[in-house]
Amino acid sequence: MEQAEQELRGRLDEIIGKVEAYQPSVDSDLIRKAFDFGFMMHAGQTRKSGELYMSHPLEVMDIIAELRLDSASLAAGLLHDTVEDTETTVEELAELFGEDVAFLVDGVTKLSKLQVNTREEAQAQNFRKMIIAMSRDLRVIVLKLADRLHNMRTMKHMPSHKQERISQETLDIYSPIAHRLGISWLKTELEDLSFRYLYPDAYFDIAEQVSKKKRERESFIREVIKILKELMSEHGIEAEVHGRPKNFLSIYRKMQKQQIDFDQVFDVLAFRIIVDERHQCYEGLGLVHNLWKPIPGRFKDYVAIPKPNGYQSLHTSVIGPQQERIEIQIRTAEMHRVAEEGIAAHWLYKEGKAVPDQDDQAFAWLHQLMEEHQDAEDPHEFLESVKIDLFHDEVYVFTPNGDVKGLPQGATCLDFAFAIHTEVGHRCVGAKVNGQIVPIRHELSTGDICEILTNPNQKPSKDWLSFVKTGRARTKIRNAVREEQRERSRELGREILNKELKRHGTNVRAVERNGKLLDATLQSRFHSIDEMLADVGYGNTVPETIVSKIFPPEEREEEQESKIGQLISRITNKQPAPRGSGSGVIVDGIDNIMVNYAKCCNPVPGDDIVGFITRGRGLSVHRRDCEKIAHLEPERMIGVSWGERRSQTVKKKGTNSVNVRVYCTDKPGLLANISQSFSDSGVNISQAHCLTTEDQRAVNTFEVLVADLDQLQGAMKKISQIKGVYRVERA
Ligand code: MN
Repeated sequence: MEQAEQELRGRLDEIIGKVEAYQPSVDSDLIRKAFDFGFMMHAGQTRKSGELYMSHPLEVMDIIAELRLDSASLAAGLLHDTVEDTETTVEELAELFGEDVAFLVDGVTKLSKLQVNTREEAQAQNFRKMIIAMSRDLRVIVLKLADRLHNMRTMKHMPSHKQERISQETLDIYSPIAHRLGISWLKTELEDLSFRYLYPDAYFDIAEQVSKKKRERESFIREVIKILKELMSEHGIEAEVHGRPKNFLSIYRKMQKQQIDFDQVFDVLAFRIIVDERHQCYEGLGLVHNLWKPIPGRFKDYVAIPKPNGYQSLHTSVIGPQQERIEIQIRTAEMHRVAEEGIAAHWLYKEGKAVPDQDDQAFAWLHQLMEEHQDAEDPHEFLESVKIDLFHDEVYVFTPNGDVKGLPQGATCLDFAFAIHTEVGHRCVGAKVNGQIVPIRHELSTGDICEILTNPNQKPSKDWLSFVKTGRARTKIRNAVREEQRERSRELGREILNKELKRHGTNVRAVERNGKLLDATLQSRFHSIDEMLADVGYGNTVPETIVSKIFPPEEREEEQESKIGQLISRITNKQPAPRGSGSGVIVDGIDNIMVNYAKCCNPVPGDDIVGFITRGRGLSVHRRDCEKIAHLEPERMIGVSWGERRSQTVKKKGTNSVNVRVYCTDKPGLLANISQSFSDSGVNISQAHCLTTEDQRAVNTFEVLVADLDQLQGAMKKISQIKGVYRVERA
């Protein structure tokens, strides 16, 4: 044990030395104190490899040092497992090492409690976002990545089922995060390690293939490097050139995607030319393309248009020496550093300098964050104040099975229920959030575990629309409410129709059975009886329309009309009167002239009226208070009056069409009451149009046939006395 501890302390000195080289101001006392504390707390614990447990936090700190993080992060690296695996508390850490260190350890501890087990890309994406959102500070994520990397490096001591699970999680969650942060070496190493444990056969096969031709390949690499270096220096460009085989996973993916063998994978080799100036990237590219034939469609300019994670470089593929396809990347040293270190490149190197604008553009997704902290002179201050605000408009919530659903900020349990399944949403009566029972409108927070409570008798309600946040829930609720309404309308329509049929001594079921109802339905514009019943229930179709198709009325009216028509045409020498026009108007003592009742005001016998001689359509009769009269030619206006005979025989069948508008509450039974009042007054409805408003009101417009004004006014009075009716007017 003595010797093992000695070794660890030697390693500690080594790492501190390394840190001091790039960051002379590092707080090595804090780091040593953190090591001593961690060593004490983890005493007696060993890793699967048999090493002292402390070797793990120490190597995690080494990775953090690679990433050039600050003293607090280094100390937190040493302490990152103390809260989870020992008696240590976060408060204790705060007291001993300060709030910053305690905050970082707390953050990593919370992340390590997340159990990620998924292969679905959408789920994985939610997990990644959640991890970033939960971290609140970029350093927490970087710590987590360092922890994961060391665990992956030492995974050979783990049982194989764990290797597989952890590797899948790394590939799904952590290497994409490293990629997002732009730390390419970390991403590549995580990928290759995962690949090795997930697909060992493929991995070792590729490794063998790569190494089989190793000597050959190495001499080829040396040759290409030499050519490129000379090419650059001949043209006055000082450049560093590297060559290497591409990472195994990317070779494997290419083989999978293109369904090819290793031998068929071209450009297994990638070369990198690193120059000083941006313009030299393009000059270098020109030289390369001049020397070797470029492969069409392979050139990419990430210098002019950086990738979202800030990556900049020129990429091209060419046919190199020995007709070998090779990939060449050209970038400046600064671009290279950003590519390798990503977000890490942005902190300590900037010591004493403000963050340049250029970087803002490069890290588009960090743009806002940085802008907020632009004035921070001290990069440490910048770092400390960078709290992750990404995805702040989303929350991530667990199902009891450990799936994650991403929802907009402010989303409720009901939104979550609909995110799971439509039926779960419909039957949702509440939820258990983190074990506590809450109402359906309870707002969810990131990290909540939510279990939906359902009841088979629950029905979606219109009120739900007032608090749900997701479009999905909104649409589903609307549909359900509409369907419910349709069902109620069908029932109501059946009821109304039954009443009307009763007068003819029958009922819906009977005419349904003998097929007459279907005939009448199809004769109207409907496709099904259900559709027709719903329309009657809504009040759009009056039951008489359907009933009259089942029991057609006698046709004596038509005869009479044609007689009148002849009479009129004799007087005016025009075509006969249109259907429905009466003959109750007297002009200069002449009865039965061709008359149209104006559609704008629909006069009925009893109304004060004037006549207007139209061109070709006979006499048109308006109410004297009709607004339209003012716009008509006064010389064509003539005085008219209602024939005495007509106005005294008011009990007759109405033929004058009038529009009546009824403002009322949106209540199912009401329409039936209104139509009942019309028919009680002897008024027939020929058309109805119903409009419901947001505030539960309805505006129903009826086209009715009345004999005269008295009859109309009687009906309107009756309707205005119905409970729920606000106002009745002639439209
Ligand atoms: Mn750990």
